Amino acid sequence: MTRTTPERPVDVESLFPELARYRRPATRLHPRPGVPDVRDSSVGGPMLWPSDEPWPVCTHPHKRSWGERVEDVRLRRRIEAEAWRRRASEPSVRPGPTETEREVLASLKRGRHAPWLANTDPIPLLAVAQLYRKDVPDLFGGPADCDVLQVFWCPFDAHGTGYQLALHLRWRRSTDVREVLADQPGPVVVGAPGNVPDPCVLHPEQVVEHQYIDLLPDRLRRRIEKWEGPEDEREADDVGYRSDLSIAPGWKVGGFASWHVTDPVPMDCDCGQPMEPLLAIASYECDSFSDSWVPLEDRATLGGAIGPTSVLVGRDGILYMFVCPRDPGHPHRLSVQ
Ligand SMILES: [Zn+2]
Ligand SMILES: [Zn+2]
Repeated sequence: MTRTTPERPVDVESLFPELARYRRPATRLHPRPGVPDVRDSSVGGPMLWPSDEPWPVCTHPHKRSWGERVEDVRLRRRIEAEAWRRRASEPSVRPGPTETEREVLASLKRGRHAPWLANTDPIPLLAVAQLYRKDVPDLFGGPADCDVLQVFWCPFDAHGTGYQLALHLRWRRSTDVREVLADQPGPVVVGAPGNVPDPCVLHPEQVVEHQYIDLLPDRLRRRIEKWEGPEDEREADDVGYRSDLSIAPGWKVGGFASWHVTDPVPMDCDCGQPMEPLLAIASYECDSFSDSWVPLEDRATLGGAIGPTSVLVGRDGILYMFVCPRDPGHPHRLSVQ
């Protein structure tokens, strides 16, 4: 099924023609639970990975013996999803898990589940996303002859100072892969359940975005704010530049980053080139602030569209991965908003 973002409530470029200079396409990925194949673009799906190539691992020094078992994370999600399904099909049923399910849930605890792992032992990375150029029009960067980007992360937020995920990118030529690795490895223990993506198929859709308001020229920003009216007089469903007209919520490729948590921070590569957001990994597909972006096909089942990947980054935020447009070999940078 395709996904269709509703037309924006107003044509912002007819109100502010200068904004045409600050527009950029983005591809919304619209991940939804499914059973992706190695030849599909996906979140949390199997990778088109050659059987004779080592799977990427993390050897960065940090604790990896303590956390939650991946199998427990998945079991909890299955039980919770089953409880929701029962509720939906039989409203008279007492909501929530059964007594037996509750006992199982209570037994799923964080702990030292991999005591054999020392702090630099290699652990397999988790498959986060696989994006084919043919599916994702705004996928940029990478060597010109490579047609698929594979994104992995270490399941522990323990890289650098404070909360830091470590992403690993791999561009490849799909035609080079003769035999696909059948049994794809993964970690036994993860630092946080929100680092485990549920397998999702994608429904990519190209939309137009406009630059984050604080990065527009001052005069233009002030005119937009005047048009929006004083913040304390605005109603929840009033059309806003930030909420409805500039940046799409949810997982996406390209477009602009929203800086609503930290305010804009320059993202420059060590080579001096300003970096651009390649991938947004979002905890939620929308919230009450951004619900004008919910696709037409999901309006009746809004609940199903929220957090379909089960990934949670930061405090229910969005992880932006920035790359250098000059050289795809330069290290990427991350920002959580
Ligand atoms: Zn790690
Ligand atoms: Zn660079």
